[in-house]
Amino acid sequence: MRATDDGSADIAYPSAIAFVLVHLACIGVFWTGVSQGTLLLAAGLYAMRMFAITAGYHRYFAHRAFRTSRAFQLGLAFLAQTSAQRGVLWWAAKHRRHHQYADTELDVHSPVQRGFLYAHVGWIFVPQNDATEIDTVPDLSRYPELCWLDRHPYLPAVALGVATWLAMGWEGLVVGFCCSTVLVWHATFSINSLAHVVGRQRYVTGDHSRNNWLLALPTFGEGWHNNHHAYQASARQGFRWWEYDPTFYALRALSWVGLVWDLRGPPAAVIRGEHKLGRPVIDKVAAQLAAAFPVEQITRQLADALADMPQWEDLKARAIAARMQAELFWKEVDLPQVPTFEEIRHYARARLAPTRSLDDISLAIRARVLEVLYSRLLEASAAPSA
Ligand SMILES: [Zn+2]
Ligand SMILES: [Zn+2]
Repeated sequence: MRATDDGSADIAYPSAIAFVLVHLACIGVFWTGVSQGTLLLAAGLYAMRMFAITAGYHRYFAHRAFRTSRAFQLGLAFLAQTSAQRGVLWWAAKHRRHHQYADTELDVHSPVQRGFLYAHVGWIFVPQNDATEIDTVPDLSRYPELCWLDRHPYLPAVALGVATWLAMGWEGLVVGFCCSTVLVWHATFSINSLAHVVGRQRYVTGDHSRNNWLLALPTFGEGWHNNHHAYQASARQGFRWWEYDPTFYALRALSWVGLVWDLRGPPAAVIRGEHKLGRPVIDKVAAQLAAAFPVEQITRQLADALADMPQWEDLKARAIAARMQAELFWKEVDLPQVPTFEEIRHYARARLAPTRSLDDISLAIRARVLEVLYSRLLEASAAPSA
């Protein structure tokens, strides 16, 4: 794990002790053995809790992708909390923040910002992430029963652990509860870590989210993470018919019996990648691509070419005296070294998934690149050695 300034690489926090102990408890299988009964129990508890996390914590509580009754909502929250991933309000609040700031420094778990292990598990135990930003979940905090559950985050998990022990003894606890809990943890966490590193990007989302069919298998459809970042309000994350999404199939079955309703889906234009991107995404993508643009090299080439320009001394003097806006400056500098809109468009297209907003993104990149070039050229000119 990469060290960070705030010392977040140090995960020796008290809240991590139980997490480590449940991992260690899995070694107990060498003493208890594994029977068909406890294997079935583990598989059942894995499936039930993975569904509660993906359909409940993620698609319902964090994204409100469908509607349900207050009783079913409570059931989903309770089941999800048996997986010991903290309380329902905490989970939803942290996840909404992830989408708001995806892969920027404000993202709570970005593998791009702080490394893979931190995004996978380290962030959970950092004290600064303990608090629930209650103002981000006003729609959930108005239910006292959800607030109560959130204040007792591990109660449902402990109750389930005790129940497995009462029902099937130590083997039930170790295989049925501990092993399946660890598997649910790492499957869930892999969406925060791996699904932002490995896979394909079908849509321009301004972050590093990926579609990964292999991750979709253990996570019941959550591996279509780039789809999800492209349209987070959808109850369905597999956008194409072959994109395996059992969470959605189960939700649709539940809608047939009236337990859930108003399942939201992605607009056809989003599925085809023909939607116009929002301004925040355009600006985010433009900032990333502009930062990677070879500005240094062009600055050197331009400085040489400008020196040969007859009106350069006058232009430079006016620009340095700040009597000239960058826009005007570029109108007067007609040199082949200045990146054209077409060149920038070509550069962006080579680096992005197909999008209808390519022109808007390219315009924004060009504005940023020209701004940097303008200030670099003036800095170079104003420097005493120039
Ligand atoms: Zn994500
Ligand atoms: Zn999400």
